[in-house]
Amino acid sequence: MAFTHRKDTRPVKVGDVVIGGKDEIVIQSMTTTKTHDVDATVEEIRRLEEAGCQIVRVACPDERAANALPEIKKRINIPLVVDIHFNYKLALKAIEAGADKIRINPGNIGKRDKVEMVVNAAKEKGIPIRIGVNAGSLERHILEKYGYPTAEGMVESALHHIKILEDLDFHDIVVSLKASDILLAVEAYEKAAEVISYPLHLGITESGTLFNGSIKSAAGLGVLLNKGIGNTMRISLSADPVQEIKVARELLKVFGLSSNAATLIACPTCGRIEIDLIKIANEVEDYISTIKAPLKVAVLGCAVNGPGEAREADIGIAGARGEGLLFRHGEIIRKVPEETMVDELKKEVDKLAEEYFEK
Ligand code: SF4
Repeated sequence: MAFTHRKDTRPVKVGDVVIGGKDEIVIQSMTTTKTHDVDATVEEIRRLEEAGCQIVRVACPDERAANALPEIKKRINIPLVVDIHFNYKLALKAIEAGADKIRINPGNIGKRDKVEMVVNAAKEKGIPIRIGVNAGSLERHILEKYGYPTAEGMVESALHHIKILEDLDFHDIVVSLKASDILLAVEAYEKAAEVISYPLHLGITESGTLFNGSIKSAAGLGVLLNKGIGNTMRISLSADPVQEIKVARELLKVFGLSSNAATLIACPTCGRIEIDLIKIANEVEDYISTIKAPLKVAVLGCAVNGPGEAREADIGIAGARGEGLLFRHGEIIRKVPEETMVDELKKEVDKLAEEYFEK
């Protein structure tokens, strides 16, 4: 069976952001603060927004968290998703508070009248529901059928929740099928993309720290992105969530799925190195992380093979003895003193970004 390519999925509106129906992946993250601590939560969301987060999710474990939602919503600029487990009253409160999407599994809410109340409230406000299947918490009847969490079981669980919503004539659905086992998650998403045309929210759950979690997420999600699967994603890391956004943006750049981010090209260094490349590359990477134009910026250790090795760079510097060479598309444009070369490069990057937006 063929995969549903991401652009052929149903477009679902989350606030002013559309997930699905196009060849674009929306980046999201989740706050780590206590949701009832409004100031801390808003502060974290603002940092996420600044880093390029397009949709943010908060946990809503209790009344206190639900009561904080209206104030949080008022003070942020990106769509707010509220994550609820089982409790239909909290779901209703979140919808009332202005949530732009809720994450709840309808099959876990309980009696049909409660499910209907939540679904009707979401329908009235025109907000979608994300069904979040997790390999670690599959329904008992599915586990009994398959014996242990399998990709088939995960898709069956998703279809079970989808049917509940569809039977209530609700179709603004997003689906995730997370697992910490990468191969299981990949297989589940691949199988889901064969039979589900709702947008898919990609993620490898409990993937780990910044270092190993980024590698695991990139390996798993890279396979899916390359097949045209996925409409939105969250990189889950045991780290500052701003790092999740940075990793997501890098991953999308690799697959040409990001049109608003600059990329760093840095040489691996060798015995010909003439500058403190690692320090400079990190400084430049940090600087360009907020640039919203698709520029390629190179930092190279020497001029011997440097500029030629990075012909595709829009702008770059290469170390030379006691100075730096600024180059564009492989051609040296001028020499700059070593002490000011990073500042000169930043100025050139700003100029190119301005030119890009004037086009
Ligand atoms: Fe070595 Fe120069 Fe190539 Fe960097 S650019 S890897 S220093 S030859």
